Amino acid sequence: AEAQLRQSQKLEALGHLAGGIAHDFNNQLAVIVASLNILRRRAEGVPGCEELCRSAEGSADRAARLVRRLLAFSREQPLDPKAVDPNELIEGLSQILKRTLGASVEIETHLADGLWRTYIDGHELENALLNLAVNARDAMPQGGRLIISTENAVIDARYRAKHPDVEPGQYVLISVTDTGEGMTPLVAARAFDPFFTTKPVGKGTGLGLSQVHGFVKQSNGHLKIYSEPGRGTSVKLLFPRFLGEVSSTKETDAAASSLLL
Ligand code: ADP
Repeated sequence: AEAQLRQSQKLEALGHLAGGIAHDFNNQLAVIVASLNILRRRAEGVPGCEELCRSAEGSADRAARLVRRLLAFSREQPLDPKAVDPNELIEGLSQILKRTLGASVEIETHLADGLWRTYIDGHELENALLNLAVNARDAMPQGGRLIISTENAVIDARYRAKHPDVEPGQYVLISVTDTGEGMTPLVAARAFDPFFTTKPVGKGTGLGLSQVHGFVKQSNGHLKIYSEPGRGTSVKLLFPRFLGEVSSTKETDAAASSLLL
């Protein structure tokens, strides 16, 4: 338990550091992109220039994406939370999941009836699940199974003794489990660190789990990794139950558009 507290303090500190760097980096990047635009206009017709500018813009684009993931980790990214039914969201992802995982991975879903809602940014949850699916795929080069399940979870004092960072209460639990190669305890201990990766250069950025961690924390949720080398990995995401009134999206849209009229 104490090690877990230390771990979350470390991630907190890393988040501050990463957030600071990402901000300054973003400002510099904005200057580079603006200058590039001017250069491009001035250099119109100069042989080779167009191509160079395009390649520089491509790199700036990739750098901007990295910065966004760092900001997500440092929890400085603005979120757009709404009442979300995780089952609906997971069903909506099934096609893209199939394509991401390829034919060698079998996908199984166990979606609980009467699942509670949670108040989170749905796009970020999709992003997080896709990140986890990509990790699962990479851990199963020979193929395997990906299991996504949901359930209502009541966290009580007993659980708290083992996981002191989790507030007791009602949560929606989303588990993403694979039958892949798993993580050694050393890898598991560093898996959330930004830029920590065991993948070859060009394949991993080490920002996937950091981003997921940042999003979950920013949503007042929790996440845990259970992993066993040679057997597989299970990532569990807990999001607080949404107790507010549930209006269907259609009604909300209608209300919003009547305000606009
Ligand atoms: P990346 O995927 O770019 O390496 P992540 O932050 O998503 O970055 O993951 C960090 C590391 O954690 C990975 O390089 C890998 O070693 C380990 N890891 C993450 N997910 C899994 C998984 N499902 N099974 C085994 N190892 C994993």
